[in-house]
Amino acid sequence: MHELQHITRKSMLYKTEVEYGNWAMNHVQGCSHGCLYPCYAYLMAKRFGRVSSYEQWCTPAIVDNTLELLAKELPKLAKKIDSVQLCFTTDPFMYGYDEICQMSVDAIRLINSFDVPCTALSKGVLPEELKSLSQKNAYGITLISLNEQYRQKTEPGAAPYVERIASLKKLHDNGQQTWVSIEPYPTPNLLEQDLGEILKTISFVDKIIFGRTHYNKVVSAYKQCREFYNEQSHKVIDFCQENDIAYHIKDGTLQE
Ligand code: SF4
Repeated sequence: MHELQHITRKSMLYKTEVEYGNWAMNHVQGCSHGCLYPCYAYLMAKRFGRVSSYEQWCTPAIVDNTLELLAKELPKLAKKIDSVQLCFTTDPFMYGYDEICQMSVDAIRLINSFDVPCTALSKGVLPEELKSLSQKNAYGITLISLNEQYRQKTEPGAAPYVERIASLKKLHDNGQQTWVSIEPYPTPNLLEQDLGEILKTISFVDKIIFGRTHYNKVVSAYKQCREFYNEQSHKVIDFCQENDIAYHIKDGTLQE
């Protein structure tokens, strides 16, 4: 049994300044996936005193009044919102946390009822229940490798890659829009691998986002870092163009 804490909040939906997605919600504090790239959300939570340790970060706290807050905020905000992203500072389908997954599905259903689509990104397993929600939603997984040992080292609490990919494929086969975030992609001094193999595995998706690793001393020490990320970015672009897949290369990844 996974430990889950409970909190309440005063607001839920907020406008973001990121490269994609204009509104977002984070209905959990912390994340049991405990990514060690490091996780930017964890670094920020620690810096601003929302958590005091990695252990506390890895013990998630669900926002119990999420659906009440959404029901209150959506009538006022729905017309201004193009889409809602779940999530930026946590994972909506935390591996092994049924209560969080169920709340995420319920939140998406409620948001869709205001004719607002959602975009979800996870390192867990995307639930089959998403099949019955709006076809305007888009569901994504993060996939930076196919090497399960590397997954255990860098994303210790997240779902095994094969489970993530299988859940995404099921949604694609049901006609849902799917995407993959290949970020933070490791440099060869972290892991030697073939990006082409990853791309082949996910050739069914509608969109691929590719981004480099930041805030990591090992990556910064890699002398050919810039050339490497330029080369890998072009591999992604060529693959997507050949396979009619939309793509986005994150800022600072392709620097020519
Ligand atoms: S899944 Fe996302 S929020 Fe959770 S620890 Fe990993 S990077 Fe951070």
